[in-house]
Amino acid sequence: MKLIAANWKMNLTPSQTKEYFEKFLPLVEGIKDREILICPPFTSLCVANEILRDKWVKLGAQNFHYEAKGAYTGEISLIMLKEFDISYVIVGHSERRWIFGESDELINKKLTAALQYGIRPILCVGERIEEREAGLTFKVVETQIRIALSGLEAYTDSLDIAYEPVWAIGTGNPATPEDAQLVHAFIKELLFGINPNHRGETRVLYGGSVNPQNSSEFLKMKDVDGLLVGGASLDPESFAKIVKSF
Ligand code: PEP
Repeated sequence: MKLIAANWKMNLTPSQTKEYFEKFLPLVEGIKDREILICPPFTSLCVANEILRDKWVKLGAQNFHYEAKGAYTGEISLIMLKEFDISYVIVGHSERRWIFGESDELINKKLTAALQYGIRPILCVGERIEEREAGLTFKVVETQIRIALSGLEAYTDSLDIAYEPVWAIGTGNPATPEDAQLVHAFIKELLFGINPNHRGETRVLYGGSVNPQNSSEFLKMKDVDGLLVGGASLDPESFAKIVKSF
């Protein structure tokens, strides 16, 4: 089943979250043939969980600390997040990598923790513009995935991967669906190389300036198993259009 995920980033307060769902839920009522996921800020998880209880729309977190508890001022653990019934966590988003300095090694620790706690990670990978221009896209994506999955090679089916070229995020300049397809096919092949017992259950989502006008073109591609949507997910009508665009 395709996964259409919203990453709200640092947007929408708890009361705005309530207003969002009042508009969004009727627009996607009855849609059961695709997974819909909302990843709000931590501060909206409580209200979102109350609203989404018994609903088909799933809840995810944008970030977490890999330790269960302890002296980590300002951090949130997976044990805490589990109480909000989250199904997914985003790991390695490019904003975490490039603004907050998260390394591939840290991302590996986070993936390990998410798998331990039974929360399905969405691992984000993608090249920066200078890497793309240097012809390094596949090498960068391969390195990010190999290090993230180091020691976790047997669990390749227990996560989803979002291919998000950094230059396409929030820029209004998406990859072409054909370019995304090439990277998605490469990622799927790579997983069979990493785990000889891989079953091919990992979905590869595309993210980077997806909007209601271009979403269906991405979803037509053979190896695009869903979308991770930032800016265009903040408006309930626009995100509902993306959800319904195939
Ligand atoms: C994202 O943050 O994951 C993202 C894809 O953002 P946007 O859709 O705004 O490019």
